[in-house]
Amino acid sequence: MDFEFENFKVQGVKFNYYFVCKRKLWLFNNGISMEENSDRVSQGKLIHENSYKKKEENKEKLIDGLIKLDILEENEVREVKISSKMKESDKMQLLYYLYYLDKIGIKRTGTINYVTERKTEKVELTEENKKYIEKVLVDIKKILNMEKPPARIKYPYCKKCSYYEFCYVEEV
Ligand code: SF4
Repeated sequence: MDFEFENFKVQGVKFNYYFVCKRKLWLFNNGISMEENSDRVSQGKLIHENSYKKKEENKEKLIDGLIKLDILEENEVREVKISSKMKESDKMQLLYYLYYLDKIGIKRTGTINYVTERKTEKVELTEENKKYIEKVLVDIKKILNMEKPPARIKYPYCKKCSYYEFCYVEEV
């Protein structure tokens, strides 16, 4: 049976959070939004504003109000990241963008530009990762429908998370 993408599609940021922390995904989805205060986000915004000035017309393309592509070019989608610290979630988010575009008839490959390290990573959508993305979308829906947030997990990056105080309130 065909996967009913319309019933499962989510914002790119939620797809990313699934790989960062499922509790964060749930909190964000429930309107507990603290990300604007995060240093990493402010830094990221600055980098996006200052990068690739010549490609102004291709920058920050919002599709269906759900996915925001840093740069959409003729053959590829480029994402600009500060560093490769969250490599896995960065890669999966870009794969989701490629999957989303593919669903609306736009075929692209992907490149992630890690600005600080001055390196790039190529990302390609395969049949195998299409299936995996669908599995993740089903799981995301289950998490978003939970009545309470998933339990806290101690990640090395919790202290840098915008929900840190919320999650560790009794310890700070
Ligand atoms: S502080 Fe840690 S457990 Fe809490 S939402 Fe952030 S990453 Fe998840």
